[in-house]
Amino acid sequence: MMTEIISSNDKKAMLRAAELIKRGETVAFPTETVYGLGANAFDEDAVNKIFEAKGRPADNPLIVHIENMNMIGDIAVGIPDDFYTLYEKFMPGPLTIILHRGKKIGDKVTAGLDTVAVRFPRHRTASELIKKSGCPLATPSANLSAHISPTTARHVYDDLNGRIPLIIDGGECSVGIESTVLDLTGEIPLVLRPGAVTLDMLRKVLKEVEQLNKYSPSDTGLFCNKSPGMKYRHYSPNADLYIANDGKDAKFLYDTALKDGKKTVIIAKAANAALYGDRNILTIPDDSKGYAKKIYSLLRLAEQSYGFIVCEKPDLSGSGESVLNRLIKASNK
Ligand code: AMP
Ligand code: MG
Repeated sequence: MMTEIISSNDKKAMLRAAELIKRGETVAFPTETVYGLGANAFDEDAVNKIFEAKGRPADNPLIVHIENMNMIGDIAVGIPDDFYTLYEKFMPGPLTIILHRGKKIGDKVTAGLDTVAVRFPRHRTASELIKKSGCPLATPSANLSAHISPTTARHVYDDLNGRIPLIIDGGECSVGIESTVLDLTGEIPLVLRPGAVTLDMLRKVLKEVEQLNKYSPSDTGLFCNKSPGMKYRHYSPNADLYIANDGKDAKFLYDTALKDGKKTVIIAKAANAALYGDRNILTIPDDSKGYAKKIYSLLRLAEQSYGFIVCEKPDLSGSGESVLNRLIKASNK
């Protein structure tokens, strides 16, 4: 299959993208978090093509993307008041909510669970595609399963060329890491995956909310049961990845790997770049927002030339904690 790349500004091509969705095909498109691979959420055969293109395990459910609230009744039932509170505050935006599954959603999308994940993305192109397609889009990140999520159309092409018919290029994603996943089907609201909508932000609008498994993916018994996708090694570059606590740690990891004959690089915060002398470095913004936006691009760049990547830990304010969560899942630990 030929994979075509179109611009999100090309109105005619956008109509063709929607036609592909209507015909039961998959289309990759930008959202504010990462690029997604969408298909009609009500068409099980179309949804199956997503799993095939990505090589995604069938027990890892997909997030259903909508562009207005009229679609919610077909997707979920027994929607609690908290959902509408969160809708007012954070939607459209990088927040996914787990609700009880509605009748029109099949087993493929939810991997057989009786719950369903719903997100209302903020990106103009995502809304336009959903609207023109006339159906909600089941959409995971548009990467090969277990690889790093894509934040540009080029990243999608590198992973899925020949496996999907069309990619909509809408530039670089502004957030850069996947959405926060919040479960509203349990006794209290529970963050299953941290993201740009942080626990602190959620605490300001919900009476109660907790986050499981704040940093480590290894103590995940409960976590894995709640969100099947989290049990897989995720977001991983095709290289060894080690997280450094500080500059001293980064130098030690780098020099040790170099002695072992490995091609090594440090992803270093701009403020620390001078620490590293003539070692290979790729610089990343110091602030947690800029760091989140660039980290996946830099990991993809690093894996092309290096077998060993040392990554300086992000600043933990704002979305920094969520980025650390991803890095831990991607790393050798
Ligand atoms: P991705 O779209 O690739 O970022 O993956 C979607 C994430 O949402 C995975 O970690 C899934 O396990 C999680 N997810 C999707 N549906 C559900 C659900 N019904 N219950 C819990 N987690 C879900
Ligand atoms: Mg993914």
